[in-house]
Amino acid sequence: MSVHAHSRTERLDLADATLREWDATVLASDAQAGIVLDRSAFYPGGGGQPPDHGVLLWGGVQTRIVDSRRGDDLYLIPLEGDPVPPAGTAVRGAVEDERRSSLMRTHSGLHLLAGVVFRDFGALVTGGNMAPGVARMDFNLPDIPADFKERIAAACAVEVTADRAIRVDNLPRDQAMAIPDVIRTATDLLPPGLEIVRIVDIVGLDVQADGGTHVASTKQIGGMDVVKVENKGKANRRLRIRLTD
Ligand SMILES: [Zn+2]
Repeated sequence: MSVHAHSRTERLDLADATLREWDATVLASDAQAGIVLDRSAFYPGGGGQPPDHGVLLWGGVQTRIVDSRRGDDLYLIPLEGDPVPPAGTAVRGAVEDERRSSLMRTHSGLHLLAGVVFRDFGALVTGGNMAPGVARMDFNLPDIPADFKERIAAACAVEVTADRAIRVDNLPRDQAMAIPDVIRTATDLLPPGLEIVRIVDIVGLDVQADGGTHVASTKQIGGMDVVKVENKGKANRRLRIRLTD
């Protein structure tokens, strides 16, 4: 989940995951603390999805953005040694498309995996992480059924081909928490003061409260391999996936 009640930055990425370039003004700036923009499409990290990389263009120079930090504001962290635009500067922002697009497919692939494993094996997610094109997810599952890996891979392939829509909605908390799947996956993760909950819905398969960026349908996830199943303690199984194209 992501909460930005105290940030001055308008989060363009939350409204449109396909946006890669935009105009912005620098509100605050420091080579160490980072750069605060009035509007930004940089995904700042969270929910297992790492932050975007990209660039700010201004006055004929570029500032490469390599990380983000959330505190009282949303700070974009520049590459050490790059020039930093002073407060008041008009900049053109650009998110590195290859990394972000891969992370969107990977993140949506994890939701698809969670939906399949819950539907077919009744197992709940206990953790997860991702990098562009590769990810892992842990499930509470006491016993591994026969052909588990193959069955999961086949079911995921079916769901990619089915091209299910992936919808993002912002719902009032009460309405969001009335969705059974959201209660299952998120009850104790939602901050108490959160009034609007962002819901990511793979229609007919998986619904989660989620702050990440996603592709618009399961076909856009593309090829996805279940690479490995590992035992990580009693009743904890780790599935590793990889995008294949
Ligand atoms: Zn997610």
